[in-house]
Order: sequence, then C-alpha cells, then structure tokens
Amino acid sequence: MSRKRNLVPLLVLGIFGVLVVVAIVISRPADNKIPPKAEGWDPGQRADELNEPKTPSVSLSSLTPEQSETLVVVSDQEPVTGWFNGEPFPFFALHGRWVALVGVSAKLAPGSYDLQVVFPSQKVAERVEVQKRAFPVTQLVVTPELEEQGYTPSSIAENIALRENVMIQRAMERVAEPPYFTGPFYNPLASMNVVGAYGNIRKSGDIELQHLGLDLGAAMGTNVYAVNDGVVSFEDSLTNYGKTLIIDHGLGLYSLYLHLSEFQVSEKEEVKRGEVIARSGNTGYSIAPHLHYSMKLRGSSIDPSLFCDIVNREVFGLAGCLQRKIE
Ligand SMILES: [Zn+2]
Repeated sequence: MSRKRNLVPLLVLGIFGVLVVVAIVISRPADNKIPPKAEGWDPGQRADELNEPKTPSVSLSSLTPEQSETLVVVSDQEPVTGWFNGEPFPFFALHGRWVALVGVSAKLAPGSYDLQVVFPSQKVAERVEVQKRAFPVTQLVVTPELEEQGYTPSSIAENIALRENVMIQRAMERVAEPPYFTGPFYNPLASMNVVGAYGNIRKSGDIELQHLGLDLGAAMGTNVYAVNDGVVSFEDSLTNYGKTLIIDHGLGLYSLYLHLSEFQVSEKEEVKRGEVIARSGNTGYSIAPHLHYSMKLRGSSIDPSLFCDIVNREVFGLAGCLQRKIE
C-alpha cells in the first residue's frame, strides 16, 4: 500500500515534466527564427493605440498673407473639408498629398482670421494674420475719344457694378471638383509687360474703382494663352470689359481675359494650358491695346501674378510662373 502511495506523486511529476518539455518544443518557432514583425509595428505601443489615427500634418504657404495673396494648404492625410473666414474650401489629391487653394481677397479687411482643416476624427486650426497691402491711388482716366463714345466715370462705375460684374459673377458660380488642371500655371502672354498694376484704386471725384487685375501691354492681335487646363465658361462682348473670355479651372478658380479683339475658342469648349484662346485688343473701356488679366477664387479677387508664383512653387515645386515662347 505504502509503496503504491509513494508512486503516485512521482507519476504526477513525471507526466508534468513531459508536458512542460512538449510545451516548450511546441512554443519554439521552427528553425529558431524570430517571426517577422508586422509593418509599422512598434513594441512600445499598446494594442489599443494601434487603431488610433495619427495626427495629420498640415502646412500653410504663409501665416501672414497680404490682401490679394493665395494661400496653399497641404495635408498628408485626406481632410473632410477646410474653413477660412466662415467659408468652406475644397481639397484635391495630388501625388499622395491633399492640396487646397484659398484666396485672401484684395477686399478682405486686414486682421486675424481662423483657418481650420477638418478630418474625420479631429480638427487642425491655424490663426492667419492678413496684412494690409498698400494699393496706390491713381486717376481714373477717360480720354476725349472715350468720352465721345459715351463713357464717363459714373457710367463706367454704374455699368460695371450693376451689369457686367453681375453677368460675369453668374459665369463663375460653379465649384467643379476635382480641378481640371493637374500641372503648373502659365502666364497668359509670351511677354509680360505690366502697364497697369494690380489693385490700383482709380479715382475720379467721388467715383472709385479698384483695378482688380493686371494690365499687360500687348500689340493688337497678340496671342493670348490659357493659363491652365479648363472649360470656357463665358464669352461675350461687354461695354466696359470689351470682348471678355473666362476659363473655369475647377475648385471655383477662374481666369479672366478682357479687351480682346478675337476669340479663338467657344463657350463650353475644353482648353489646355498654353493653348491660344484669343487675340488681344482694345475693345470696351480701354485707352490703348492691352490685355487685362485677372483671377477669381470662389469669389475672392486675387493677384494673378502672385497666384502663379505661389501655386507653382508650393504645389508643383517650380521657381515661378511658366512662360510660353513667342510664336
Ligand atoms: Zn485693366
């Protein structure tokens, strides 16, 4: 009896020992190799942290833009939307990044504004300090020749405010996404000779008109190029703006070409950047042959020259605006 009793613990220990050895053999990986780590696995992370989204990285081309400047917002993760001064702005995907263009209107009062980028589970906020741009005040010139044709400072101001701006604004309401363009921007002329600066305030008595475009010297009939891909959204002959052509580039971005002599494309036609769309002229309220070139971004008046330099640099990594060769 007593011998049998003493055997029981020995038997239990023996079986346990065999099980432990078996367990160790089973748990050892074949060939003694350490199993490969999962991609991005970090031994310091808790399991519940692995499913949490990482903080998005958002960059702005400037935190102190001046009136009429364009802000480029770049994110490394896909945002839902962005907000600036109470208005939403769209993002588009480009080479693995998400990019947005935000116009700081020439007419936006200098001061502090919130810019927010909204992601599915978080928000990134920045404070943008809009700087005052010193726009020179000049004389609103009406030559005797133009007076003979019925142009006066008050008729010009009234017609622009009540008629022509209403017509062109109607042609710039669409915010097409994604944009029509995927590459950098061109200048509209092969030779850029600025004869009328952007933003000048032209005065005549009580009448005040801000010149929200660039006047470029161009001999009659000079080729005018599409600054980027898009769709012609407007073509008409207007009393003050003359023969006017507008291209919709998507995202609510439009380029405008005024005082033309001829159109080379039609409304609703798709155009490619660098394509000849028109010839420059002297139509409408114009004192000499030139091209008036301007840009609107979801209703904001922006400096087209600054736009091209900033967007080509920040979005496409170029030194500045592209220039077509003279043909
Ligand atoms: Zn002009």
